[in-house]
Amino acid sequence: MPNQPDVMEKLVSLCKRRGFIFQSSEIYGGTGSVWDYGPLGVELKRNLQERWWKAMVRSRSDIEGLDSAILMHPRVWEASGHIGGFVDPLVDCRNCKKRFRADDPRIKGTPGTPDAQCPACGMKGTLGEARQFNLMFKTFMGPAEDSASIVYLRPETAQGTYVNFLNVQQSTRQRIPFGIAQIGKAFRNEITPGNFIFRTREFEQMEMQFFVEPGTDMQWFEYWKEERMKWHRGLGLAPDRLEFHQHRADELAHYARAAFDVQFDFGGTLGFQEIEGIHNRGDFDLTQHQKFSGKKLEYFDHASNKRYVPFVVETAVGPNRTLLALLVNGYREESVEGEAEGRVVLGLLPALAPIKAGVFPLVKKDGMPEMAKKISDDLRKAFSVFYDDSGAIGRRYRRQDEVGTPFCITVDGESLSANTVTVRDRDTLKQERISVDALKEYIGPRIVE
Ligand SMILES: [Zn+2]
Repeated sequence: MPNQPDVMEKLVSLCKRRGFIFQSSEIYGGTGSVWDYGPLGVELKRNLQERWWKAMVRSRSDIEGLDSAILMHPRVWEASGHIGGFVDPLVDCRNCKKRFRADDPRIKGTPGTPDAQCPACGMKGTLGEARQFNLMFKTFMGPAEDSASIVYLRPETAQGTYVNFLNVQQSTRQRIPFGIAQIGKAFRNEITPGNFIFRTREFEQMEMQFFVEPGTDMQWFEYWKEERMKWHRGLGLAPDRLEFHQHRADELAHYARAAFDVQFDFGGTLGFQEIEGIHNRGDFDLTQHQKFSGKKLEYFDHASNKRYVPFVVETAVGPNRTLLALLVNGYREESVEGEAEGRVVLGLLPALAPIKAGVFPLVKKDGMPEMAKKISDDLRKAFSVFYDDSGAIGRRYRRQDEVGTPFCITVDGESLSANTVTVRDRDTLKQERISVDALKEYIGPRIVE
């Protein structure tokens, strides 16, 4: 497979310039690997999240939604294994105070011995022994800052779902198999974050836990694996940039019976990386919470008269990573026939594009701006539009191409007498003349799929 080009640097610049993504606290010099979503970024992210919610919750009778809190009882993280097991071994340099993962390939020699060399300052014998470092962010609940009041920012949304399993099941009267889905923030104190919004310490998850009868779990695992790949293809991500990665026995998390990642080819040195994980977690989580809480988390099946702790098949998407995949996948530079200047296009699926249509008067006179403003005000009731009357018309088209706007509507000399406009397609560059009254019908169906 040909190596995909590395467009990350260009995207970081485009995202800042056009208001997709800004560095957090930029005026203070920035916060490491934390990012803010600007006006266009938040629209794109919401469109992506709403698409997932619709596919996973609204359009299905067997999945319920949930929005559990970020702060949870600290015992949750003992039960889940995050307090004991969610650790990375790290080494510190006494000389330069830098911190490294113990398995950093740049470290020469064994940390803690005189021959070990620091990869940053080059000193020998200054690296301490590897120490366990927990990836959870800690804070205190209430006024006392002591060990009894420690709480954690959740490192995943899934545990909020498990502890609510019976609340949801009993309040909705769902029968197994059924699922619980949620979208929310999670936090991990990553040692090596980076690659723009790919790996960050504060991020979002779109997770669904599907509760099934033990013995049917692999069947459901296969079902969800295929469903989730289909969903990613439906976002417009190129099929040859998507693949499954199966976790080998030594890669499997302690709770997992089987795991596949959906990987996307981000190009350059990043290459194929996980954007979603599909996991068969067995009864690990519910059993652990039964043990630690002392409360039964069993399901009673009236039809078979059986009582059991369900198995869980989890699908966990990183929306921030998927958003980055959409940008990487959509970014292209093209030459335009008959024009000296080329164009940058963000080939986003119209349904995901932050702006659906640009509306322009060809020139700023003869009643054209008034008519264009009226059209944009009217269309704005149905979808997001952007009115622009500054600069040459070609530049206005380019500005919309660059942010992925699928349609540009232009009011010209003929518009006032005939009540028509031209509609330009972002990808084909073809223009069609359409009655103003038919605009909503024309664009509407083209931006839903
Ligand atoms: Zn050092």
